[in-house]
Amino acid sequence: MYSLRRNVARLCQTAGYRLQSTLVIAEHDNKNVALITLNAITAAKKLGGDVSCLVAGSNCANVVNELSKAAGVNKILIADSEALVGFLPECLAPVVLAIHNQFKFTHIVAGASAQSKSLLPRVAAKLDVSPISDIIEVKAPDTFVRSIYAGNALMTLKSKDPVKVITVRGTNFEAASLEGGNTSSEDVAVTDLPVGLSAFIGQELSKSDRPELTAAKTVISGGRGMKSGENFQLLYTLADKLSAAVGASRAAVDAGFVPNDMQVGQTGKIVAPELYIAVGISGAIQHLAGMKDSKTIVAINKDPEAPIFQVADFGLVADLFKAVPEMIEKL
Ligand SMILES: Cc1cc2nc3c(=O)[nH]c(=O)nc-3n(C[C@H](O)[C@H](O)[C@H](O)COP(=O)(O)OP(=O)(O)OC[C@H]3O[C@@H](n4cnc5c(N)ncnc54)[C@H](O)[C@@H]3O)c2cc1C
Repeated sequence: MYSLRRNVARLCQTAGYRLQSTLVIAEHDNKNVALITLNAITAAKKLGGDVSCLVAGSNCANVVNELSKAAGVNKILIADSEALVGFLPECLAPVVLAIHNQFKFTHIVAGASAQSKSLLPRVAAKLDVSPISDIIEVKAPDTFVRSIYAGNALMTLKSKDPVKVITVRGTNFEAASLEGGNTSSEDVAVTDLPVGLSAFIGQELSKSDRPELTAAKTVISGGRGMKSGENFQLLYTLADKLSAAVGASRAAVDAGFVPNDMQVGQTGKIVAPELYIAVGISGAIQHLAGMKDSKTIVAINKDPEAPIFQVADFGLVADLFKAVPEMIEKL
């Protein structure tokens, strides 16, 4: 069936038409597919045409298994090699390019993440096209909406490039379901990888029993008003009562209160949980850019003029060191 589609696609191409065919680059840890990939699949389906997923990694069979159940995916392409340990962009980019050369996709899509930020611009540069980053809407196969000026303006962009290389803001697209699909897979050759350009030495991953920041239904973020890293314990205690993730403003990260993987905002993570509680955060536009799509926003700040109250659904003008312990006690 898939080869029939490919043949039709080739015929159309020869006749001057191109059917849409999208490659979604799956992000994963060799065990589980990342949520942002499921958001990217939904965006890919909105483009129309075939959707293939590339699972590139080392010993990543479980990811292939998971993705094979994703509804709406037509094919899984597997690049499983020891050379891809660590997901180095120097090695992943040639794999994506080789697959693209073989299948001639019209779109190459990934979730907007640290990994795709280092991978997709390389792919786009090699294809001599402009990367289209962090889209929030698909208007047509060549027309996309993305936010600019830290979310203060929306840009509608029409691309004339023959291949659209796109990253997708996860919070703007529902996650595709991992049920109902029964997708076949195909191995692709992993050859001609650059040797000695970079090497994977190791990684230290922070472990937490709390939900992941970008996937959590409730996020509690602390700002400079927390005054110290020790005081974040208040937020961790509250988070444990609410099964929430803990985030932070950049000021709190820069002050060394918490690690930078907790940063929410323009230069941090973009979140859109059901409930976002901002504690001791003023509400600078760069912070709002990362959380203003949250369904319900609660702000606790002692300054009634703090801009965060302009976006908050519920505001509490109070000293956080009194308000938060009271909340913990009542829960
Ligand atoms: C290019 C660029 C990118 C940036 N990216 C980001 C980003 O990704 N994320 C981000 O967050 N910022 C980002 N920033 C920084 C941003 O401009 C702000 O400086 C930052 O968000 C401020 O953090 P804050 O609200 O914690 O600190 P402040 O602005 O200092 O606010 C602290 C707040 O705490 C309140 N407070 C103090 N004590 C108490 C108390 N006891 N009880 C209750 N309230 C109290 C104060 O009233 C105040 O409103 C970026 C800036 C630039 C230029």
